[in-house]
Amino acid sequence: MLVLGAGFGELEASARLVELLGDEVRITLIDRSDSFVFGFTKLEIMFARRTRDAVRLRYRDMVDTGVRFLQETITSIDPVARRVVTDQGDHRADLLVVALGADYDLDATPGLREAGFEFYSVDGAERLRSRIDTFSAGTAIVGVCGAPFKCPPAPSEAAFLLDDHLRARGSRERVRIQVVIPFGVPIPPSPDTSSAILARFADRGIEFVRGRRVAVLDPRTREAVLDDGSRLPFDLFLGVPVHRVPAVVAESGLAENGWIPVEPRSAATRFEGVYALGHVTSVGTPKAGVFAERAARAMADQVAARLRGMPIPPGYDGTGACWIEFGGHEVARVDVDFFAVPGRPTGTFTAPSAATAAEKASFAATRAARWFGPGAALR
Ligand SMILES: Cc1cc2nc3c(=O)[nH]c(=O)nc-3n(C[C@H](O)[C@H](O)[C@H](O)COP(=O)(O)OP(=O)(O)OC[C@H]3O[C@@H](n4cnc5c(N)ncnc54)[C@H](O)[C@@H]3O)c2cc1C
Repeated sequence: MLVLGAGFGELEASARLVELLGDEVRITLIDRSDSFVFGFTKLEIMFARRTRDAVRLRYRDMVDTGVRFLQETITSIDPVARRVVTDQGDHRADLLVVALGADYDLDATPGLREAGFEFYSVDGAERLRSRIDTFSAGTAIVGVCGAPFKCPPAPSEAAFLLDDHLRARGSRERVRIQVVIPFGVPIPPSPDTSSAILARFADRGIEFVRGRRVAVLDPRTREAVLDDGSRLPFDLFLGVPVHRVPAVVAESGLAENGWIPVEPRSAATRFEGVYALGHVTSVGTPKAGVFAERAARAMADQVAARLRGMPIPPGYDGTGACWIEFGGHEVARVDVDFFAVPGRPTGTFTAPSAATAAEKASFAATRAARWFGPGAALR
Protein backbone atom coordinates (compact mmCIF):
# COMPACT_ATOMS: atom_id res chain seq x y z
CA MET A 1 0.00 0.00 0.00
CA LEU A 2 1.21 3.49 -0.89
CA VAL A 3 0.14 6.39 1.29
CA LEU A 4 0.69 9.83 -0.24
CA GLY A 5 1.08 12.54 2.38
CA ALA A 6 1.99 11.87 6.00
CA GLY A 7 -0.51 14.02 7.90
CA PHE A 8 -3.03 13.15 10.63
CA GLY A 9 -5.18 10.67 8.70
CA GLU A 10 -2.38 8.96 6.88
CA LEU A 11 -0.36 8.35 10.04
CA GLU A 12 -3.43 6.83 11.70
CA ALA A 13 -4.35 4.73 8.63
CA SER A 14 -0.82 3.30 8.55
CA ALA A 15 -0.69 2.63 12.30
CA ARG A 16 -4.10 0.94 12.26
CA LEU A 17 -3.29 -1.29 9.28
CA VAL A 18 -0.05 -2.42 10.87
CA GLU A 19 -1.99 -3.12 14.08
CA LEU A 20 -4.58 -5.20 12.20
CA LEU A 21 -2.48 -6.90 9.53
CA GLY A 22 1.10 -6.88 10.80
CA ASP A 23 3.51 -8.21 8.17
CA GLU A 24 0.68 -9.04 5.74
CA VAL A 25 0.75 -5.47 4.51
CA ARG A 26 3.71 -3.42 3.31
CA ILE A 27 3.05 0.26 3.84
CA THR A 28 5.12 3.02 2.29
CA LEU A 29 4.41 6.57 3.38
CA ILE A 30 5.64 9.36 1.07
CA ASP A 31 5.89 13.02 2.05
CA ARG A 32 8.08 15.86 0.81
CA SER A 33 8.54 17.15 4.34
CA ASP A 34 10.92 15.64 6.91
CA SER A 35 8.53 16.08 9.83
CA PHE A 36 4.91 16.20 10.97
CA VAL A 37 3.45 19.04 13.03
CA PHE A 38 0.02 19.16 14.68
CA GLY A 39 -1.93 22.10 13.17
CA PHE A 40 -2.58 23.70 16.56
CA THR A 41 1.14 24.07 17.22
CA LYS A 42 1.24 26.81 14.56
CA LEU A 43 -0.71 28.95 17.03
CA GLU A 44 1.81 28.06 19.73
CA ILE A 45 4.72 29.04 17.47
CA MET A 46 3.01 32.32 16.57
CA PHE A 47 2.61 33.32 20.23
CA ALA A 48 6.08 32.08 21.26
CA ARG A 49 4.70 29.28 23.45
CA ARG A 50 6.77 26.65 21.65
CA THR A 51 9.53 26.71 19.05
CA ARG A 52 9.44 25.15 15.60
CA ASP A 53 11.96 22.57 16.68
CA ALA A 54 9.96 21.58 19.75
CA VAL A 55 6.83 20.71 17.75
CA ARG A 56 8.43 18.76 14.90
CA LEU A 57 7.96 15.01 14.94
CA ARG A 58 10.55 13.72 12.50
CA TYR A 59 9.55 10.92 10.17
CA ARG A 60 13.04 9.46 10.39
CA ASP A 61 12.33 8.78 14.08
CA MET A 62 9.38 6.49 13.26
CA VAL A 63 10.87 3.40 14.83
CA ASP A 64 9.27 0.00 15.28
CA THR A 65 6.11 1.23 13.59
CA GLY A 66 6.22 -1.21 10.65
CA VAL A 67 5.88 1.69 8.20
CA ARG A 68 8.52 2.65 5.62
CA PHE A 69 8.89 6.40 5.11
CA LEU A 70 10.28 8.04 1.95
CA GLN A 71 10.98 11.75 1.83
CA GLU A 72 10.12 12.45 -1.81
CA THR A 73 8.06 15.01 -3.74
CA ILE A 74 5.19 13.51 -5.71
CA THR A 75 5.06 14.86 -9.26
CA SER A 76 2.31 12.73 -10.81
CA ILE A 77 -0.40 10.27 -9.80
CA ASP A 78 -2.08 7.82 -12.16
CA PRO A 79 -5.16 6.56 -10.28
CA VAL A 80 -6.03 3.95 -12.92
CA ALA A 81 -2.64 2.22 -12.87
CA ARG A 82 -2.10 3.18 -9.19
CA ARG A 83 1.28 4.50 -10.23
CA VAL A 84 3.03 7.42 -8.58
CA VAL A 85 6.04 9.32 -9.86
CA THR A 86 8.22 11.32 -7.50
CA ASP A 87 11.41 13.35 -7.83
CA GLN A 88 13.27 10.15 -6.91
CA GLY A 89 11.50 7.46 -8.93
CA ASP A 90 8.44 5.38 -9.68
CA HIS A 91 6.09 3.55 -7.30
CA ARG A 92 3.18 1.17 -7.88
CA ALA A 93 0.75 -0.27 -5.34
CA ASP A 94 -2.26 -2.53 -4.93
CA LEU A 95 -3.88 0.16 -2.77
CA LEU A 96 -3.30 3.88 -2.94
CA VAL A 97 -4.28 6.44 -0.29
CA VAL A 98 -4.15 10.08 -1.42
CA ALA A 99 -3.96 12.57 1.42
CA LEU A 100 -1.93 15.52 0.21
CA GLY A 101 -3.92 18.15 2.10
CA ALA A 102 -4.34 21.62 0.62
CA ASP A 103 -1.92 24.14 -0.87
CA TYR A 104 -2.18 27.78 0.14
CA ASP A 105 -2.82 30.25 -2.68
CA LEU A 106 -1.59 33.55 -1.27
CA ASP A 107 -1.79 35.22 -4.69
CA ALA A 108 -5.56 34.65 -4.75
CA THR A 109 -5.75 37.52 -2.25
CA PRO A 110 -4.02 40.52 -3.85
CA GLY A 111 -1.87 42.43 -1.34
CA LEU A 112 -1.66 39.57 1.18
CA ARG A 113 2.04 38.92 0.54
CA GLU A 114 3.00 42.62 0.71
CA ALA A 115 0.78 43.91 3.49
CA GLY A 116 -0.25 40.93 5.62
CA PHE A 117 0.78 37.62 7.17
CA GLU A 118 -0.68 34.11 7.07
CA PHE A 119 -0.51 31.84 10.12
CA TYR A 120 -1.48 28.53 8.47
CA SER A 121 2.07 27.38 7.66
CA VAL A 122 4.94 26.93 10.10
CA ASP A 123 6.99 29.51 8.16
CA GLY A 124 4.07 31.96 8.26
CA ALA A 125 3.56 31.43 12.01
CA GLU A 126 7.27 32.07 12.60
CA ARG A 127 7.22 35.28 10.57
CA LEU A 128 4.21 36.46 12.56
CA ARG A 129 5.91 35.69 15.86
CA SER A 130 8.62 38.25 15.07
CA ARG A 131 6.01 40.84 14.07
CA ILE A 132 3.76 40.20 17.08
CA ASP A 133 6.81 40.70 19.30
CA THR A 134 6.93 44.36 18.33
CA PHE A 135 3.19 45.00 17.89
CA SER A 136 1.73 46.99 20.75
CA ALA A 137 -0.78 49.49 19.30
CA GLY A 138 -3.27 49.77 16.42
CA THR A 139 -5.81 47.46 14.80
CA ALA A 140 -5.21 43.73 14.33
CA ILE A 141 -7.49 41.81 11.97
CA VAL A 142 -7.71 38.02 11.98
CA GLY A 143 -9.23 37.48 8.55
CA VAL A 144 -10.33 34.49 6.48
CA CYS A 145 -9.64 34.90 2.75
CA GLY A 146 -11.63 31.91 1.48
CA ALA A 147 -13.61 28.79 2.42
CA PRO A 148 -13.25 25.89 2.93
CA PHE A 149 -10.30 26.32 5.28
CA LYS A 150 -8.62 24.00 7.76
CA CYS A 151 -9.86 23.91 11.32
CA PRO A 152 -12.81 26.38 11.41
CA PRO A 153 -12.17 27.35 15.08
CA ALA A 154 -8.57 28.46 14.34
CA PRO A 155 -9.33 32.15 13.52
CA SER A 156 -11.29 32.53 16.78
CA GLU A 157 -8.49 30.78 18.68
CA ALA A 158 -5.92 33.13 17.12
CA ALA A 159 -7.96 36.14 18.33
CA PHE A 160 -8.21 34.78 21.90
CA LEU A 161 -4.50 34.01 22.04
CA LEU A 162 -3.60 37.43 20.63
CA ASP A 163 -5.79 38.99 23.32
CA ASP A 164 -3.97 36.92 26.00
CA HIS A 165 -0.59 37.86 24.58
CA LEU A 166 -1.34 41.59 24.55
CA ARG A 167 -2.80 41.51 28.07
CA ALA A 168 0.31 39.77 29.37
CA ARG A 169 2.42 42.54 27.84
CA GLY A 170 0.20 45.35 29.14
CA SER A 171 -0.71 46.66 25.68
CA ARG A 172 -4.24 45.30 25.22
CA GLU A 173 -6.02 48.69 25.67
CA ARG A 174 -4.06 50.12 22.76
CA VAL A 175 -5.08 47.37 20.32
CA ARG A 176 -8.40 46.81 18.53
CA ILE A 177 -8.96 43.16 17.51
CA GLN A 178 -11.41 42.22 14.75
CA VAL A 179 -12.24 38.76 13.39
CA VAL A 180 -13.60 38.42 9.83
CA ILE A 181 -15.17 35.02 9.03
CA PRO A 182 -17.28 34.02 6.01
CA PHE A 183 -19.92 32.34 8.21
CA GLY A 184 -22.80 33.90 10.15
CA VAL A 185 -21.44 32.44 13.40
CA PRO A 186 -17.98 31.12 14.36
CA ILE A 187 -18.92 27.38 14.38
CA PRO A 188 -22.08 26.82 12.30
CA PRO A 189 -22.80 23.19 13.35
CA SER A 190 -22.89 24.09 17.05
CA PRO A 191 -24.99 27.08 18.19
CA ASP A 192 -23.83 26.56 21.81
CA THR A 193 -20.17 26.72 20.78
CA SER A 194 -20.80 29.80 18.64
CA SER A 195 -22.67 31.53 21.51
CA ALA A 196 -19.84 30.77 23.93
CA ILE A 197 -17.23 32.13 21.49
CA LEU A 198 -19.30 35.27 20.82
CA ALA A 199 -19.83 35.79 24.57
CA ARG A 200 -16.07 35.48 25.20
CA PHE A 201 -15.38 37.82 22.26
CA ALA A 202 -17.70 40.40 23.87
CA ASP A 203 -16.07 39.88 27.24
CA ARG A 204 -12.60 40.37 25.76
CA GLY A 205 -13.55 43.32 23.53
CA ILE A 206 -12.97 41.35 20.31
CA GLU A 207 -15.16 42.48 17.39
CA PHE A 208 -16.78 39.89 15.13
CA VAL A 209 -17.43 40.71 11.45
CA ARG A 210 -19.79 37.95 10.36
CA GLY A 211 -20.49 36.49 6.93
CA ARG A 212 -17.62 38.26 5.17
CA ARG A 213 -14.40 37.17 3.49
CA VAL A 214 -11.27 39.28 3.01
CA ALA A 215 -10.87 39.66 -0.77
CA VAL A 216 -7.94 42.11 -1.07
CA LEU A 217 -5.43 43.91 1.14
CA ASP A 218 -4.64 47.40 -0.06
CA PRO A 219 -0.94 47.92 0.78
CA ARG A 220 -1.14 51.66 0.09
CA THR A 221 -3.98 52.52 2.47
CA ARG A 222 -3.45 49.45 4.70
CA GLU A 223 -7.08 48.44 4.46
CA ALA A 224 -8.67 44.99 4.17
CA VAL A 225 -11.25 45.04 1.38
CA LEU A 226 -14.07 42.60 2.13
CA ASP A 227 -16.13 40.68 -0.43
CA ASP A 228 -18.95 43.27 -0.21
CA GLY A 229 -16.49 46.10 -0.99
CA SER A 230 -16.40 47.47 2.56
CA ARG A 231 -12.99 48.45 3.93
CA LEU A 232 -11.41 47.87 7.34
CA PRO A 233 -8.16 49.68 8.22
CA PHE A 234 -5.49 47.52 9.87
CA ASP A 235 -1.98 47.72 11.29
CA LEU A 236 -1.50 43.95 11.57
CA PHE A 237 -3.26 41.37 9.38
CA LEU A 238 -3.25 37.71 10.44
CA GLY A 239 -4.69 35.82 7.49
CA VAL A 240 -6.15 32.42 6.71
CA PRO A 241 -5.13 32.06 3.04
CA VAL A 242 -7.25 30.61 0.23
CA HIS A 243 -6.86 26.80 0.15
CA ARG A 244 -6.59 24.86 -3.13
CA VAL A 245 -6.25 21.21 -4.04
CA PRO A 246 -2.52 20.52 -4.69
CA ALA A 247 -1.63 20.85 -8.40
CA VAL A 248 -0.45 17.23 -8.60
CA VAL A 249 -3.91 16.09 -7.49
CA ALA A 250 -5.72 18.47 -9.86
CA GLU A 251 -3.67 17.08 -12.77
CA SER A 252 -4.34 13.45 -11.79
CA GLY A 253 -8.03 13.54 -12.70
CA LEU A 254 -8.99 12.56 -9.14
CA ALA A 255 -10.55 15.91 -8.25
CA GLU A 256 -13.95 17.25 -9.33
CA ASN A 257 -15.12 20.77 -8.49
CA GLY A 258 -11.92 21.48 -6.60
CA TRP A 259 -11.54 18.46 -4.30
CA ILE A 260 -11.60 14.65 -4.49
CA PRO A 261 -15.11 13.19 -4.10
CA VAL A 262 -15.19 10.13 -1.83
CA GLU A 263 -17.79 7.75 -0.53
CA PRO A 264 -18.08 9.23 3.01
CA ARG A 265 -18.09 5.98 5.02
CA SER A 266 -15.31 4.14 3.17
CA ALA A 267 -13.14 7.03 1.83
CA ALA A 268 -13.19 5.22 -1.54
CA THR A 269 -12.74 7.34 -4.67
CA ARG A 270 -14.31 6.40 -8.02
CA PHE A 271 -11.04 4.62 -8.92
CA GLU A 272 -10.66 0.97 -7.92
CA GLY A 273 -8.25 0.56 -4.97
CA VAL A 274 -7.78 4.32 -4.52
CA TYR A 275 -8.83 6.07 -1.30
CA ALA A 276 -8.60 9.71 -0.24
CA LEU A 277 -8.49 11.27 3.22
CA GLY A 278 -8.36 14.70 4.87
CA HIS A 279 -8.48 18.15 3.36
CA VAL A 280 -7.91 16.94 -0.22
CA THR A 281 -11.44 15.47 -0.24
CA SER A 282 -14.91 17.01 -0.43
CA VAL A 283 -16.24 14.54 2.16
CA GLY A 284 -18.28 17.23 3.93
CA THR A 285 -16.77 17.12 7.43
CA PRO A 286 -14.62 20.06 8.62
CA LYS A 287 -11.02 20.18 7.45
CA ALA A 288 -9.61 19.26 10.83
CA GLY A 289 -7.15 16.53 11.69
CA VAL A 290 -9.42 14.73 14.14
CA PHE A 291 -11.99 14.04 11.40
CA ALA A 292 -9.28 12.82 9.02
CA GLU A 293 -8.00 10.56 11.78
CA ARG A 294 -11.36 8.91 12.47
CA ALA A 295 -12.11 8.50 8.77
CA ALA A 296 -8.66 6.93 8.31
CA ARG A 297 -9.17 4.45 11.11
CA ALA A 298 -12.54 3.38 9.71
CA MET A 299 -11.04 3.05 6.22
CA ALA A 300 -8.24 0.87 7.58
CA ASP A 301 -10.76 -1.35 9.42
CA GLN A 302 -12.71 -1.88 6.21
CA VAL A 303 -9.60 -2.55 4.10
CA ALA A 304 -8.29 -5.08 6.62
CA ALA A 305 -11.67 -6.85 6.82
CA ARG A 306 -11.85 -7.06 3.03
CA LEU A 307 -8.33 -8.51 2.78
CA ARG A 308 -9.14 -11.08 5.46
CA GLY A 309 -12.53 -12.01 3.95
CA MET A 310 -14.30 -10.88 7.14
CA PRO A 311 -17.63 -8.96 7.39
CA ILE A 312 -17.08 -5.33 6.43
CA PRO A 313 -17.52 -2.90 9.37
CA PRO A 314 -19.91 0.06 8.90
CA GLY A 315 -17.17 2.63 8.16
CA TYR A 316 -16.72 6.24 9.21
CA ASP A 317 -19.53 7.57 11.41
CA GLY A 318 -19.00 11.27 10.60
CA THR A 319 -18.11 12.28 14.15
CA GLY A 320 -15.13 14.09 15.64
CA ALA A 321 -14.17 16.29 18.58
CA CYS A 322 -12.40 19.63 18.14
CA TRP A 323 -10.62 21.39 20.97
CA ILE A 324 -10.85 25.18 20.97
CA GLU A 325 -8.42 27.56 22.72
CA PHE A 326 -10.50 30.13 24.61
CA GLY A 327 -7.64 32.15 26.09
CA GLY A 328 -6.66 32.24 29.76
CA HIS A 329 -5.17 28.73 29.31
CA GLU A 330 -8.69 27.31 28.98
CA VAL A 331 -9.78 24.98 26.20
CA ALA A 332 -13.33 24.05 25.18
CA ARG A 333 -14.46 21.05 23.13
CA VAL A 334 -17.13 20.57 20.51
CA ASP A 335 -18.23 17.07 19.53
CA VAL A 336 -19.71 17.19 16.05
CA ASP A 337 -21.79 14.59 14.22
CA PHE A 338 -21.99 15.17 10.47
CA PHE A 339 -23.94 12.15 9.35
CA ALA A 340 -26.68 11.62 12.02
CA VAL A 341 -29.10 14.00 10.28
CA PRO A 342 -28.18 14.23 6.57
CA GLY A 343 -27.22 17.76 5.58
CA ARG A 344 -27.60 19.08 9.14
CA PRO A 345 -24.51 18.59 11.32
CA THR A 346 -25.03 18.83 15.06
CA GLY A 347 -22.52 19.70 17.79
CA THR A 348 -22.33 19.30 21.56
CA PHE A 349 -20.35 21.90 23.48
CA THR A 350 -18.14 21.33 26.53
CA ALA A 351 -17.37 24.63 28.31
CA PRO A 352 -13.78 25.89 28.45
CA SER A 353 -11.67 24.67 31.37
CA ALA A 354 -8.15 23.79 32.39
CA ALA A 355 -9.22 20.12 32.52
CA THR A 356 -10.15 20.17 28.83
CA ALA A 357 -6.81 21.84 28.08
CA ALA A 358 -5.14 18.84 29.75
CA GLU A 359 -7.30 16.48 27.66
CA LYS A 360 -6.08 18.20 24.46
CA ALA A 361 -2.44 17.87 25.55
CA SER A 362 -3.00 14.20 26.32
CA PHE A 363 -4.56 13.65 22.88
CA ALA A 364 -1.44 15.05 21.18
CA ALA A 365 0.87 13.01 23.42
CA THR A 366 -0.91 9.71 22.73
CA ARG A 367 -0.93 10.33 18.97
CA ALA A 368 2.75 11.26 18.92
CA ALA A 369 3.63 8.01 20.70
CA ARG A 370 1.24 5.90 18.59
CA TRP A 371 2.50 7.19 15.25
CA PHE A 372 6.18 7.82 15.97
CA GLY A 373 6.92 5.24 18.63
CA PRO A 374 7.28 5.42 22.41
CA GLY A 375 9.38 8.38 23.45
CA ALA A 376 8.13 10.69 20.69
CA ALA A 377 6.66 13.86 22.21
CA LEU A 378 6.19 17.59 21.75
CA ARG A 379 8.72 19.49 23.81
C1 LIG B 1 -3.65 27.01 12.61
C2 LIG B 1 -4.19 25.62 12.52
C3 LIG B 1 -4.76 25.03 13.65
C4 LIG B 1 -5.29 23.74 13.56
N1 LIG B 1 -5.81 23.16 14.70
C5 LIG B 1 -6.33 21.92 14.63
C6 LIG B 1 -6.87 21.31 15.80
O1 LIG B 1 -6.86 21.88 16.89
N2 LIG B 1 -7.41 20.07 15.65
C7 LIG B 1 -7.43 19.42 14.45
O2 LIG B 1 -7.92 18.30 14.38
N3 LIG B 1 -6.91 19.97 13.33
C8 LIG B 1 -6.37 21.21 13.39
N4 LIG B 1 -5.83 21.77 12.26
C9 LIG B 1 -5.92 21.04 10.95
C10 LIG B 1 -4.90 19.89 10.81
O3 LIG B 1 -3.63 20.26 11.27
C11 LIG B 1 -4.67 19.40 9.38
O4 LIG B 1 -3.96 20.37 8.71
C12 LIG B 1 -5.87 19.15 8.58
O5 LIG B 1 -6.61 18.16 9.19
C13 LIG B 1 -5.55 18.65 7.18
O6 LIG B 1 -4.85 17.44 7.27
P1 LIG B 1 -4.43 16.63 5.98
O7 LIG B 1 -3.77 15.37 6.43
O8 LIG B 1 -5.55 16.56 5.03
O9 LIG B 1 -3.36 17.55 5.30
P2 LIG B 1 -1.92 18.02 5.80
O10 LIG B 1 -1.81 17.93 7.28
O11 LIG B 1 -1.70 19.32 5.16
O12 LIG B 1 -0.96 16.90 5.19
C14 LIG B 1 -0.68 16.81 3.83
C15 LIG B 1 0.74 16.32 3.64
O13 LIG B 1 1.00 16.15 2.27
C16 LIG B 1 2.31 16.56 1.98
N5 LIG B 1 2.39 16.92 0.57
C17 LIG B 1 1.63 17.81 -0.11
N6 LIG B 1 1.97 17.82 -1.42
C18 LIG B 1 2.97 16.93 -1.58
C19 LIG B 1 3.73 16.47 -2.71
N7 LIG B 1 3.53 16.94 -3.95
N8 LIG B 1 4.67 15.50 -2.51
C20 LIG B 1 4.88 15.01 -1.26
N9 LIG B 1 4.19 15.39 -0.16
C21 LIG B 1 3.25 16.35 -0.33
C22 LIG B 1 2.56 17.72 2.90
O14 LIG B 1 3.95 17.90 3.16
C23 LIG B 1 1.78 17.31 4.17
O15 LIG B 1 2.60 16.66 5.11
C24 LIG B 1 -5.26 23.04 12.32
C25 LIG B 1 -4.67 23.62 11.20
C26 LIG B 1 -4.14 24.89 11.29
C27 LIG B 1 -3.50 25.48 10.07
